[in-house]
Amino acid sequence: MKILIITNQVKNSLNSSFNNLLSCVQNIGNNYTTCDVVVVGHDLNSLCTKISTYKRVAQVLAIDSPVLANLLVENIATQLAAIVRNYTHVLINADSFGKNLLPRIAGILELSQISEVIKIISPNIFQRYIYAGNIIQEIESFADVKLLTIRASSFIPDLELRTEAAPIIALEYNNPISSKVKYIKSNLTDNSINLSNAKIVVSGGIALESKENFNNLIRPLAAKLNAAVGATRAAVEAEFTSNDTQIGQTGSTVAPQLYLAIGISGAVQHIAGMKDSTSVIAINIDANAHIFEYADYGIVADLFDIVPQLITLLDQKGE
Ligand SMILES: Cc1cc2nc3c(=O)[nH]c(=O)nc-3n(C[C@H](O)[C@H](O)[C@H](O)COP(=O)(O)OP(=O)(O)OC[C@H]3O[C@@H](n4cnc5c(N)ncnc54)[C@H](O)[C@@H]3O)c2cc1C
Repeated sequence: MKILIITNQVKNSLNSSFNNLLSCVQNIGNNYTTCDVVVVGHDLNSLCTKISTYKRVAQVLAIDSPVLANLLVENIATQLAAIVRNYTHVLINADSFGKNLLPRIAGILELSQISEVIKIISPNIFQRYIYAGNIIQEIESFADVKLLTIRASSFIPDLELRTEAAPIIALEYNNPISSKVKYIKSNLTDNSINLSNAKIVVSGGIALESKENFNNLIRPLAAKLNAAVGATRAAVEAEFTSNDTQIGQTGSTVAPQLYLAIGISGAVQHIAGMKDSTSVIAINIDANAHIFEYADYGIVADLFDIVPQLITLLDQKGE
């Protein structure tokens, strides 16, 4: 068994789901199983040093090039595909980077990918949600290389450290540079807390009515609670907030200890992204809203009355 994790840099630090992927390594093997980690990007020295300190890491392979500063996956997929061939299991976080990269590697190697794994039953058997999270599918794979995108929030982070750092091996960048894509700009989220690992998420729906209201109500409430900001697809499409705050079937999946759903109806596609939350508080003006079926605490009220009161209360508590 040879396991490889592919990871990257997000806003100058290690992809925060990395430690969740480390715990998958133990689930595939046992407490003694280790993995190699390949890191792609630019200026990776401190990142590689950090990765090399974790117990489960056998060696760190660094592909560091200025060409990879903006991480266009087209410029790294071919080189990674050649590396991946030597492993039995390849793990990557099911974020926008992983969802963009791994299918390309799968295509090059003519392998099928198993997406958004939530549980590892054995080295060959994996569970994932299908039909917007309503059914858990169990898949047995007989592929020589199992390509897995991992729903990080389903796994507890493995933070165990080594006594001595693992070796770091610099690999020369040799991927053909794609002429078909060009980096233009990044619109990074203003979420300072990573959604997929957040302990508290404050989410707003289309009922907020405008970007201004979203900024004046959802963001301050999230800031008071030290929470990440989430949204429904309707709110994202109305441009109240950035695309990467969308939670649901076609957005991020979260499993916080507390999820606040504000002005959200609870469409099945939204529920798919938040139903693993430990506690849910819903605020909705409609007592029959579907979200209340998932709520531990429901407030039937106008959000424009309740949210300012909550912010004031939290302000007073903080004083
Ligand atoms: C293929 C596909 C994929 C999709 N993927 C996603 C996804 O990933 N994530 C996602 O969220 N959606 C997704 N959707 C869209 C989804 O079906 C819903 O349209 C969307 O979630 C609705 O968002 P909403 O709850 O903000 O809006 P609505 O459904 O319009 O609900 C608004 C809610 O606000 C309440 N409300 C109104 N005014 C107030 C007020 N003043 N105070 C309090 N409550 C108020 C209303 O009672 C209502 O319940 C997808 C749809 C499709 C077809």
